[in-house]
Amino acid sequence: LFLSFEGIDGSGKSTQARMLAERLSADGMTALLTREPGGSPGAEEIRALVLQGDPDRWSPETELLLFTAARRDHMERTIRPALTRGEVVICDRFADSTRLYQGRQGLRDTVDKLHNLMIGMEPDLTIILDMDPEAGLSRAKARATAEERFEDFGIALQLQMRAGFLALSEEFPARIRVIDGNRRPEYVAADIHATVMEALDA
Ligand code: C5P
Repeated sequence: LFLSFEGIDGSGKSTQARMLAERLSADGMTALLTREPGGSPGAEEIRALVLQGDPDRWSPETELLLFTAARRDHMERTIRPALTRGEVVICDRFADSTRLYQGRQGLRDTVDKLHNLMIGMEPDLTIILDMDPEAGLSRAKARATAEERFEDFGIALQLQMRAGFLALSEEFPARIRVIDGNRRPEYVAADIHATVMEALDA
């Protein structure tokens, strides 16, 4: 089973992905927790190229190619082998983030073409954590590190991305579930666990 977590910056994806991995492990499953950009040695190197240093180093097109290269390596080296071993793979962001973040400068069509050409796989289930954009922004700012830039286009980008994630949930209703992230983490985690159990039964 391949699961992804998506949502705006500060929506609690990493926390919830970790809580789910712990819960599934406690249930006796083997869960592999991974993230994008990154998740394999090569893809982590590409992450540094994209998220560290001058934010204007790459054009939007080059950045899309780098994210796609990172995803391809992550898929080849980490995701597919784990799925073949029968593990549950939990990925903090996947292609939906690229559809929105790299797709936002009129590149959505190119994103889809590259995805079909080089990735061609989707999660069985995607959890979108819906979060108040202001609250998410202040959480993301509070933990932003000096090394890694974070997409600080402020509240405008947060609002645009929240709308984008909700639109994606309508575009892919069979795969995507939206969960209210504006609650105590334990309540959010319980909802997510129930949703994943349903998917496992299906
Ligand atoms: O999810 P994480 O906090 O690690 O993402 C780091 C930064 O990279 C965030 O600011 C996020 O918005 C950005 N990002 C992006 N395009 C992606 C994935 C992440 O611009 N496909």
